[in-house]
Amino acid sequence: MAALSTGRMLSSKHSDPLNGRVVWVAGKSLWVASMTIGALIFAPLTFSLDALAVFAVLTGVTICLGHSVGMHRLLIHQSFKAPIWVEHILVYIGTLVGMAGPFGMIYAHDIRDWAQRQRECHDLFAHRRSFFQDAFWQMHCALSLDNPPQFIIEERIARDRFYRFLESTWMLQQVPVAALLFILGGFPWLVWGVAVRVSVSLTGHWLIGHFAHRGGEQGWSVDDVAVQGYNLSRFGLITFGESYHGNHHAFPESARLGLENGQVDLGWSFIRFLQRMGLASSIKLPSNVPQRAGLRRVASCLPQRSAQSKELHSNVPAKTGGH
Ligand SMILES: [Zn+2]
Ligand SMILES: [Zn+2]
Repeated sequence: MAALSTGRMLSSKHSDPLNGRVVWVAGKSLWVASMTIGALIFAPLTFSLDALAVFAVLTGVTICLGHSVGMHRLLIHQSFKAPIWVEHILVYIGTLVGMAGPFGMIYAHDIRDWAQRQRECHDLFAHRRSFFQDAFWQMHCALSLDNPPQFIIEERIARDRFYRFLESTWMLQQVPVAALLFILGGFPWLVWGVAVRVSVSLTGHWLIGHFAHRGGEQGWSVDDVAVQGYNLSRFGLITFGESYHGNHHAFPESARLGLENGQVDLGWSFIRFLQRMGLASSIKLPSNVPQRAGLRRVASCLPQRSAQSKELHSNVPAKTGGH
């Protein structure tokens, strides 16, 4: 059966999400390894409460405003609209996470999303292998598909000169941050504000991706796809909403990820703040986007729903799908 096309991934009749080779990616691997080894060696030697605070604040800001809101919800999913200068600032902060540039982030997200939506896909896209093999695959390798789909970024983003600049310099973007931290707090701030932050962010990102595709609590499931997403609700606070991954598979375009009662979603709180400042509009929610095919409510796993949650999902039928 021919593969489906998704947003930026155009399938031909040969496109195949299953067959390919996992290859070691030198640049990415050496980057992650040097940050992690640097952190393991120097973090214990330079620990102080102020260095820890620098790490916590910078990690929180870069993951919440940059990675979750800027890169994921805005640039990748276009789940709301913002003035271009706001989008640029948020995507710049997202680049500071140290994972990839804007185009690299879009590709990494969309190729996995494309593969997971097919009826079957390669183990790498599904996080199906053992803990350590998955760690090596996801953080040090990439899958070279024999017959990949065509990847087309929309003109507006592909031609954006600021995004092109960030894409070609994303590793170097740590240099001004490192210099500023060194001036303000010396070597300990540099170690905790760059090496520890980048290695914890990248390892944490993989850990959430690993467990959020393997099992757990689920409010909805999607029929006829290779991979399901699950909510890791305990980590909702420290991932700024990103760990409600079952919700994200159910409503990929929604700006809000914490949909059930009690699911704290600080990324969503920030989008609401932007909205109140007049800087976010056309916000997409489960109630105002077309429902994806095969979506099914898995009522048995649900926590008690609040009145607000009921209202939010009032037009999501309990049992749907044409399969
Ligand atoms: Zn997923
Ligand atoms: Zn996504």
